[in-house]
Amino acid sequence: MDKTLDPANWDEFRRQAHGMLDDMIDYLMTVRQRPVWQPIPAEIRDHFREKLPPGPAPLARIHETFMHEVLPYAVGNAHPGFMGWVHGGGTPVGMLAEMLAAGLNANLGGRDQMPIEVEKQILVWMRELFDFPETASGLFVTGTSMANFIALLVARTAFLGTEVRRCGLRGELLAAYASEGAHGSIARAFDLAGMGADSLRLIPVNENFEMDVEALESAVKKDRESGWLPFFVVGTAGTVDTGAMDDLEAIADCAKRQGLWFHVDGALGALAMLAPDIAPRLAGIDRAESVAFDFHKWGQVPYDAGFVLVKDGELHRNTFASTESYLRRESRALAAGSPWPCDFGPDLSRGFRALKTWFTIKAFGAERLGQMISGSCELARYLKMRILASRELELAAPVSLNIVCFRYKCAESDRVNAEIVVKLQESGIVAPSTTLIKGGLAIRAAIVNHRTDQSDIDALVDAVLAYGESLRNE
Ligand SMILES: *Cc1c(COP(=O)(O)O)cnc(C)c1O
Repeated sequence: MDKTLDPANWDEFRRQAHGMLDDMIDYLMTVRQRPVWQPIPAEIRDHFREKLPPGPAPLARIHETFMHEVLPYAVGNAHPGFMGWVHGGGTPVGMLAEMLAAGLNANLGGRDQMPIEVEKQILVWMRELFDFPETASGLFVTGTSMANFIALLVARTAFLGTEVRRCGLRGELLAAYASEGAHGSIARAFDLAGMGADSLRLIPVNENFEMDVEALESAVKKDRESGWLPFFVVGTAGTVDTGAMDDLEAIADCAKRQGLWFHVDGALGALAMLAPDIAPRLAGIDRAESVAFDFHKWGQVPYDAGFVLVKDGELHRNTFASTESYLRRESRALAAGSPWPCDFGPDLSRGFRALKTWFTIKAFGAERLGQMISGSCELARYLKMRILASRELELAAPVSLNIVCFRYKCAESDRVNAEIVVKLQESGIVAPSTTLIKGGLAIRAAIVNHRTDQSDIDALVDAVLAYGESLRNE
């Protein structure tokens, strides 16, 4: 039996490896020719299920199973016709970087190693992009859900002091604020932090689905008068439903007047700072105490790659750092380089998410990424124009960024539009999703994928009209 898990025959392995890489490059090169999504046949689902394998199988055969049973039945967010939810498309460059990271098998919890310098380089770039000071800290995490949670914990430490880490919450009536359009992960962060999701007040939005900042101000005052302790407000840079951009400057002003921690959920929209035509709409983001965002959405970095940026790096560290003896720091050798990334979040072992992000930013540069982001918004405006030009379609919400919510106009609109989206997804041509706008179901196209072009928008509109027509005549 082989002593190690390395290949017995490296030449054979190398041939197999090159073939696998070629297959994946072919997949990405021809992704447009495939269906966006297709249902998993019951035989495939059944065939795939098996008992714990007691012995080895040849790599070539495992890869064959992957090619036939896994690859064709993914969500399809690499495909240009994918417009559902908010998913990035990934890039071939990101794929390669992910492979290199896996080869190195780096653990970025800590210690003195260059991979951590790569992560720090991303932090340096993000400080520059968001105009944050040199004292700001940052950390790769799975996604913005985790980044929002970390930011909330830092804000809690700022408000209650580090003793909260030992004593916990002592019945303090903490109150926080976000708009009705805020992502569900914000309320979940309060749940996870033991503060209870009800301590998050959802502030009404204006006709553009942006937080009504006057309503925010009165909610804070009212809470304070009734003995609550307001401490945290979230502005959303690109809401998940409609892409609305809260007025970050106005929220920052309110936060300052009321002494609140100002956090920005920029999962989708924060990287629009790279696009000169959109960046002005993010004015005020530099005044946030913390920003959470995803490289895996508009940044096109392969999943997963979320990031949290905190202005007061020391406070961030004091929220998470601990002193276990086996994690002792030294000034020389491997245990040097303190503070370590594990001092800034709940994870000890951490993968090398920074590498695929570094490769992506280096390979394309800030300008090209910014143009790609502007391009998504331009396509959203084109879709809006096609909707306005059609008698059968109506916009369900203003188009602010790269998300377009619309409906096929007819009786039983909710049922018909839901059915249209199911049929679109099953057709494999385009895959939008749905959302509820003011209680009514809408078709929602989020244009995030860098491969999406005008022909995909035309295909979406034409297919909606065709399915709508046939459903209306049924
Ligand atoms: C996607 C999204 C999130 C959650 O981010 P994950 O990376 O999926 O954890 C939070 N907020 C907004 C506005 C989002 O669009």
